[in-house]
Amino acid sequence: MGKVSIGLRGWRFDEADVFDSDGSIKPLAEMPPEPRQRVSRLTAIIGNACDACMLLEDDERHCNVALAVYGEPMSEVLLCEEHEPDFLYWFREEGGDEYAGNAAMKDRFLEWIADGGRAPDEYAGIEHVDSEPDALPNAAVTGEIPSLEDELEEMDEGEREALDVDLSDLDI
Ligand SMILES: [Zn+2]
Repeated sequence: MGKVSIGLRGWRFDEADVFDSDGSIKPLAEMPPEPRQRVSRLTAIIGNACDACMLLEDDERHCNVALAVYGEPMSEVLLCEEHEPDFLYWFREEGGDEYAGNAAMKDRFLEWIADGGRAPDEYAGIEHVDSEPDALPNAAVTGEIPSLEDELEEMDEGEREALDVDLSDLDI
């Protein structure tokens, strides 16, 4: 059992935490709390625009859809192909790792971008954090986790609270 990403690269999960032995996504209640928080957060943020694009573009239609997610759920940073190298450069070379696990990470990174911070050209194309494409179980390859969205819809509020799932911007 290895580490996998679901939908967006960046966040990594122990396969055993999030998938059944047949490769389908586990019910949320059967996941340990930390991956459960991230997986339920993913259902809300997959398909959203890149945060750096949103900062730099006046028109949301010019923003790229995010392909990667870093940071903590609810204060995560969403990044497109173009801006992921900027984040990795900031994190590794500009002291961003100081904010690992810190809710302030997103704001500090976006301040750096707003101040004109960018990765040097040669940094683009550097290996991604997950340099090997993951052999994603079938449930994950579509970039969506529909079974979870259905599951969340069917839960009542008390059940969701019991799971500590924050759905503040999930469109259900
Ligand atoms: Zn972007």
